[in-house]
Amino acid sequence: MADRTIPEDFLRAVPKTDLHVHLDGSVRIPTLIDLAREYRVELPSYTEAGLRETVFKDRYRNLSEYLQGFTYTTAVMQSEAALERVAYELAVDNLEEGVRYLEVRFAPQLHMHKHLNAIMVLKAVDRGLKRARADFNGRDAVAQGKEPPFEYGIICCALRMFRAGFSEYYTLLLQAHRYSPPKEVFSMASLELARAAVIARDEHGLAVVGFDLAGEEAGYPADDHAPAFHYAHKNFLKKTVHAGEAYGPESIFQAITDLHADRIGHGSYLLEPDAISDPSIEDREQYVQQLGQYIADRRITLEVCLSSNMQTNPQLGDVSQHSFRRQRQARLSTTICTDNRTVSNTTVSKELRLAVENLGLSRGDLKSIIIYGFKRSFFPGTYQRKRAYVRQIIDYYRTVEQSFFGAASED
Ligand SMILES: [Zn+2]
Repeated sequence: MADRTIPEDFLRAVPKTDLHVHLDGSVRIPTLIDLAREYRVELPSYTEAGLRETVFKDRYRNLSEYLQGFTYTTAVMQSEAALERVAYELAVDNLEEGVRYLEVRFAPQLHMHKHLNAIMVLKAVDRGLKRARADFNGRDAVAQGKEPPFEYGIICCALRMFRAGFSEYYTLLLQAHRYSPPKEVFSMASLELARAAVIARDEHGLAVVGFDLAGEEAGYPADDHAPAFHYAHKNFLKKTVHAGEAYGPESIFQAITDLHADRIGHGSYLLEPDAISDPSIEDREQYVQQLGQYIADRRITLEVCLSSNMQTNPQLGDVSQHSFRRQRQARLSTTICTDNRTVSNTTVSKELRLAVENLGLSRGDLKSIIIYGFKRSFFPGTYQRKRAYVRQIIDYYRTVEQSFFGAASED
């Protein structure tokens, strides 16, 4: 039964995660306007209302309209100061709604140019997040152990494809390799990023915890990026892959086998036999059953982003039709994420509210999904520290439940 009695304050008070949030999709609109003025980037409007009307909408007609906003945000995020500010503000906004563990992802190569390399980009973002963490964890309640601290990790996104103009780095790379097939250049850029990610973690002590593959799926298969994911895998970086939007279940299979994915971004079509396009799969129903069971059994977690999926797939109609319900019935491990706070005009609390009201979550279901987010995070510390942190989160969650309802829900 859906629990419609879960108050807004409760959703904000419980400790939460966001394991799938893009830095460049989550820039505060006033900050975008500020930075656009500072760096002389042209925007279609210089007011929040104007940008909400023209760029960052509640509903989009298609994916390309959805992606439009990113061209403006990445255009202003080309300096260390801008990257640090955006990262800091993202953490602050999350903290204000009770998010205690944040895994921020972005494509460093979208911010690279002659004067800014991958390590500088990652350092700037890490600085912003670290400053927000220091502010928050310095509060008495956290310092005295009454409340769990804020922790974060960074995920580096490789892009399935890019064109000249995506960034100065990508433009120069394509020019330098003008005689190579573009897919070889995409593959090379991914591997270069995986190497930079490992150096950032091992030589600079940054909280780089994972590697991701993002960007346009149709026509750009994941296996072009297998060398980068092998490199990440061999160096103990965790892996997540945006999969199952354009290609369906077989692309999720590819992500967990060829790319060693520990989690899947979206995976909306995982259980949809009709979404299979590989002609060699004869019994489609059986294929999705077996794949679903395998993923459930291995606890490979789906990063579910309800608003974003509704916006990029307007044919879905309303949230109650989202595949999340079937995923839960199949006992898959799921975590609720925002994808893009600004582009999707959402927050973690808003996404949880959507799930509770439209997809029949009880208070106990809600708790188990939220706690799963902490358990399946790519936590940057040791496993012992992660376990202690999750334990502290569970205890604190119970305290919040007791203060709102007098009793905690069943574990
Ligand atoms: Zn995403």
